[in-house]
Amino acid sequence: MSFVRIQNLRLFVLIPWVLILCLWLLPSPLLAQQGSPSLAAPAKGRSATLHSDPFTPHLPARALTYRKIQRTIGLGGILWGLLGLWLFVRSGLSVRLRDFAYRLSNQSVPDTNSPPPFRALLQYYGLFSLIALLWHLPIGLAALATEQAYGFSREPLAMHLLDSAKGWAIGLAAVPLLAFVYRLYDRSPRRWWLWLWGMTLPLLVGILILEPMIIAPLFNTYTPLGDSPLRGKILALANRAGVPNARVFVENTSLRTTHVNAYVTGVGPAARVVINDTAIQSLPEDQLLAMIGHELGHYVEKHVWYGLLSGAVGSGAIYLLFFRLLPLIEKRECRKKTGLRGLTDLAALPLLMLYGNLLLLAQDPIANAESRYMEHRADAFGLRTTGLHEATARLMVGFAERDYSDPDPPALLHFWFGTHPTLKERIAFALSSEMKSNVPPRTHP
Ligand SMILES: [Zn+2]
Repeated sequence: MSFVRIQNLRLFVLIPWVLILCLWLLPSPLLAQQGSPSLAAPAKGRSATLHSDPFTPHLPARALTYRKIQRTIGLGGILWGLLGLWLFVRSGLSVRLRDFAYRLSNQSVPDTNSPPPFRALLQYYGLFSLIALLWHLPIGLAALATEQAYGFSREPLAMHLLDSAKGWAIGLAAVPLLAFVYRLYDRSPRRWWLWLWGMTLPLLVGILILEPMIIAPLFNTYTPLGDSPLRGKILALANRAGVPNARVFVENTSLRTTHVNAYVTGVGPAARVVINDTAIQSLPEDQLLAMIGHELGHYVEKHVWYGLLSGAVGSGAIYLLFFRLLPLIEKRECRKKTGLRGLTDLAALPLLMLYGNLLLLAQDPIANAESRYMEHRADAFGLRTTGLHEATARLMVGFAERDYSDPDPPALLHFWFGTHPTLKERIAFALSSEMKSNVPPRTHP
């Protein structure tokens, strides 16, 4: 690649992020309130305090600093990952690792564009993903140090490293899939992407059945909600939501963090609502029920299925774009100077991942717009089912005051990465007269 081309690629990667960073530095109207002396942090700065207006987040100054650090780590981490992939190939390390992987299996590097042998692929990918893990380690440690400094993380360094090692081992499951795609490309260079598209939905369904049942328990424990007055109220709420047999599990999140959350995951036999034990420990009961009402909305409206379907459909567009990009990548990158012998050369894999990541990054606004729509629907369902308008609004205020989530993030960042409507929007929606007038008469559990 010539110097000019390198510059072009750098600009392609950097310009959107420089733009985002500039926008991030602009203060949003809500953040501007933080100069007020009345907003000083309470003791340790994290307990939510009732103010004259309980439905407007009152943020300690340290919340702003926390969010800036978080954003820097988040956006920097994306750039760092792209840069790492690019450097790995451009520095010649990828070619050296490929040669080493073939030497380990006593094979010679093929000159033709044939699919790599499985053993060489496993050895290359295993070592490459280990190097990638080490490359990302500083970012992970910076995130951990921030969470610890602000009193959110309870995760010892050893646990963090063990989680990373487990993630690396699970990632090796990509090897058979990669081997399959290489063969598919070899057999059908013009239609491989169509075949792969056809297989994506069953593959995603398989992952969403296995993930909650096999992978998640490697990191956390999940126990069915035990017998308690709270369980009775949650089951009554689930009954009213139309899911008398809802599977509700408690995750031992408190082992790692104080942050509060709940989510819906899995499909078919693995479908479940998961509540973090931190939510049970720290939320008032009405806010906890408001949170579960929202999650039941995802469950009842089968949002996991919609997400799966749109992911499978969208992946077709990504594969097609990738298919169209391949000749360009081959022409630009596979040459004597780079040492890459073709697109199926193992050493070209990080480069393909780099372009794949750029495509995924480009589709984030579409995927997140859909996510925000489903989150809004879950909010509406929760409010209709529980009637807990003020508790829902206070729950959102708590996310800002207790967990330091940004109630009103910069528009471009929200457009690109926002998976939920902003907290400010969700508070306004919960308190809107339109929602309140829609509540069916009911008795609260
Ligand atoms: Zn949700």
